[in-house]
Amino acid sequence: MADPSPTVAVVIPVFNEEAVAPELCRRLTALFDAGHGCTWRAVLVDDGSRDRSAELLRAQALRDPRFELVELSRNFGFQSALAAGLAHAQGADAIVTMDADLQDPPELIPELVAAWQRGADIVRAARRSRAEAGVRRAGFELFHVLFGRLSDFPIESNTGTFGLLSQEAAMALQRLPERHRFFPGLRAWIGFTVADVAYDRQERAAGMPQQTLRRLVRYALDGIFSFSHLPLRLLTYSGLFIAGVGFAVGLFFIVRRLLGVEIAFTGFTTIISLVLFLGGVQLIGIGVLGEYLGRMYDEVKQRPLYVVKRHTGSAASRPASSPRD
Ligand code: UDP
Ligand code: MG
Repeated sequence: MADPSPTVAVVIPVFNEEAVAPELCRRLTALFDAGHGCTWRAVLVDDGSRDRSAELLRAQALRDPRFELVELSRNFGFQSALAAGLAHAQGADAIVTMDADLQDPPELIPELVAAWQRGADIVRAARRSRAEAGVRRAGFELFHVLFGRLSDFPIESNTGTFGLLSQEAAMALQRLPERHRFFPGLRAWIGFTVADVAYDRQERAAGMPQQTLRRLVRYALDGIFSFSHLPLRLLTYSGLFIAGVGFAVGLFFIVRRLLGVEIAFTGFTTIISLVLFLGGVQLIGIGVLGEYLGRMYDEVKQRPLYVVKRHTGSAASRPASSPRD
């Protein structure tokens, strides 16, 4: 940090963002030109876009040596694209992570850098307000309540991907090998000194949200299952509870029988509800086990998180830092 002109890399995953790409490049260029005492790099990751995003950004990378573009061979999803960006940005003194859609204003980056220069290793941009509404917003809130309760490493509900990592923090993150990645959770896990910088989250500059609701639900599940064993423990607890109740009910009927109380042929409703209820509980149990097992299977397979198809820009000629590329 004593470096008078630290290198700051801005990592941005891009998927079908042709509508915002020119504006994104313009605002980043303005920031880079202003300098703010840093040497800037933009590491754009094209996550298999099906529109002209890659073409536009490739042109930008050829035009301006401060921009580089890493193109993935298909759509691997936001978390993988982010991991690709982080891998290619290693070596910078600080790495900023942000969305392409300009919901995270690039103009805030100097403040993030300032907080880092004051000694924080991880700077999180904290939303004063959230632009989303309706189902998405309710979903985000539900997730944060759940995650806060379940995880040993809670994350603030008003922080997301947008933020800055020091070189050390970025390296620590890079060493986490897991395939189901939930960035805010991993960032909380690695520790370090954390600082928050408040900002107002913007509306998307253009285009549509590229994260489908289904994807977001999957990240939420990844977040919960990779950071908590509570679902498993809950199964044990409910098993103990149901077994206890079963034992008491059994005892009750045995005693009645021994006392010579006649058994009338009623109770069909009770039996059928109990059978279905217990069957349901067992299936849920198997489902929860399956969630963990499936994740373990993915880890065991050791597939790379992403495949790079092409790398354009200043750093392209340098040997890549990650052996997996
Ligand atoms: N994105 C990506 N891969 C995907 C989906 C999205 O790299 O499969 C990028 C997208 O281009 C954007 C960021 O991830 O830069 C966040 O996506 P979006 O704005 O759709 O999500 P939200 O703001 O709703 O979280
Ligand atoms: Mg967005």
